[in-house]
Amino acid sequence: MKNVITIDGPSGAGKGTIARLLAKKLGYKYLDTGALYRAVAWKVREERTDLSNESALKRLIENIKITFNGDRITADGVDITSEIRTAEIGELSSQVSALPSVRAGLFGIQRNMCLQGDVVIEGRDTGTTIFPESENKFYLDASVEERARRRYEELKMKDAAITLAATIEDIKKRDTRDSTRQTSPLTRTDDMVYIDSTNLSIEDVVEKITGSLKR
Ligand code: C5P
Repeated sequence: MKNVITIDGPSGAGKGTIARLLAKKLGYKYLDTGALYRAVAWKVREERTDLSNESALKRLIENIKITFNGDRITADGVDITSEIRTAEIGELSSQVSALPSVRAGLFGIQRNMCLQGDVVIEGRDTGTTIFPESENKFYLDASVEERARRRYEELKMKDAAITLAATIEDIKKRDTRDSTRQTSPLTRTDDMVYIDSTNLSIEDVVEKITGSLKR
């Protein structure tokens, strides 16, 4: 396996920020797998797909064309970069991601996007299911309050009605759903380097990761 660094962890742990910086530092590509689930959720909303209709979902995943271009993401030619970063799509993507047909469909897409190696991939199951053979796996964590605070800072610019209390509840709900679903639940395994970022700066975390890379 060419160099693939996996970073997993719960919502708001800072995986995106860290993975993006780390990739830049190493000259690697960066794959935000949460954005793929969010893109599917966006399409589900667009097409009003019934989540209990397995064949419709399967068709949707087979046909959706998701592309990354720098920091932009498009689905079927529509730039959805900003639209997928709302609390509504966050919640829908969490529901969508619990469905086995969605996970199965996105498995191949994620593997294909990393075929050339030299990539930092982050999500919930990148070290357990997508690249279990990776030699550089990390689990990034932070307290629920800190993760909610970070998410709230991000969301309040777009949604004036959002509150910190609601964000804490939302994060707790997503944690439960992500870690108790049947297919590829969020799990921390012994071969992952565990980092609690609650009291660490972004630079501290990137340094910890680069310091423990096996090459
Ligand atoms: O990380 P982000 O919040 O953008 O991910 C959106 C949702 O997609 C998460 O709440 C999680 O339920 C799901 N997800 C997943 N597996 C991944 C990445 C994200 O189940 N590898």
